[in-house]
Amino acid sequence: MQNGEIKSFEVFETMRTANAGRLKEAREKGKKFAGVYCTFCPEELIIAAGAAPFGLCGTKEDPIAAAEQVLPRNLCPLIKSSYGFAATGTCPYFQASDLIIGETTCDGKKKMFEVMSEIKPVHVMQLPQMPDTDSSINLWKSELYRLKDALEKTFGTEITEEKLREAMRVKNRETEARRRVHDLNQRVPAVISGMKVMTATWMSGFAIDKEEIIEALEALTNETLALAEQGLAFGDEKTPRVMITGCPVGLGSEKVIRLVEENGGAVVGLENCTGYKTLRLITDPDAPDLMDALARKYLSIPCSCMSPNKGRMELLSDMIRDFKVDGVIDLTWQACHTYNVESYTVSELVKQEKDLPFLQLETDYSQSDVQTLNVRIAAFLEMIQK
Ligand code: SF4
Ligand code: SF4
Repeated sequence: MQNGEIKSFEVFETMRTANAGRLKEAREKGKKFAGVYCTFCPEELIIAAGAAPFGLCGTKEDPIAAAEQVLPRNLCPLIKSSYGFAATGTCPYFQASDLIIGETTCDGKKKMFEVMSEIKPVHVMQLPQMPDTDSSINLWKSELYRLKDALEKTFGTEITEEKLREAMRVKNRETEARRRVHDLNQRVPAVISGMKVMTATWMSGFAIDKEEIIEALEALTNETLALAEQGLAFGDEKTPRVMITGCPVGLGSEKVIRLVEENGGAVVGLENCTGYKTLRLITDPDAPDLMDALARKYLSIPCSCMSPNKGRMELLSDMIRDFKVDGVIDLTWQACHTYNVESYTVSELVKQEKDLPFLQLETDYSQSDVQTLNVRIAAFLEMIQK
């Protein structure tokens, strides 16, 4: 049975364009939006303010040339693409956002927000980069309160405890729905292509209504599970099972996932931001101190801008076991220093501790190196052929 037969996937193929078409109507009905660029942004506060968060990280090459009129060429393509969409006015989701929220994650991104603020108001959160310390939690908590004030002012509302508890429940359900889609591929053989998993879960960033996306994700999981009982599979027991880690990927920057699958592999695990990085992080909506619970959740995101970033090694280790991974590809966008440096630690974990093949690929959003990537990926898959 072929993957094309998963009917509930179809909605995700058109969702980005369809939702862009619905923005005007949603705004006319009074719906408010906030644009976010990172998983560190506490979306619960945006939802509690009655607005919807959009994930605006640029994943396409199209606006990069325009961005390079202002930003240096030697900058990660994600930052250039994000700024380029804003500067050229070609992203309807950026246009529709009443407020942009950024964080001081990597150097390139935080400096880009300064330039972006000439286009639209940008609220930048000061992100401490040492997880697990009291001083970091306290600083991040105070930044959550500062964001709460900014949201209340922008959207003319009060974020009450009750609204925040309800928003935490919604966000937990969305996280759980996304995690269940990824977990489908813990099965052997895999049941759904990595391309489909990435597409479906990445789309939650463009949801006008969280309930809608939760429903669509649950339908995808339930249908795929039912089809798996009737023999649906992506590949077979011998198909090399690959995990991709590293920099964020979305539609437009998916070439490594696509090339792995075109060369006969199955991308069963995605550890990056559009993947599993935040999917084990759930908050307790009945916690006595909600802001403290949120601060702790977001500070435990294992992004390479954290130092040290032991959480990423723990997550990778668990995923290698749970998704029965045969080899790991670490994807680094050019000029992303934090992921590039951390690749050494990841390679040590994969090669020494897990005794698995490891490949680091450094690339950008262009198609100019596709042939070289194709050769390297094909050779890697041959190495892990069972
Ligand atoms: S990789 Fe890190 S900085 Fe980039 S979007 Fe993810 S959490 Fe944010
Ligand atoms: S991929 Fe790297 S350089 Fe680019 S925004 Fe994310 S952390 Fe920063």
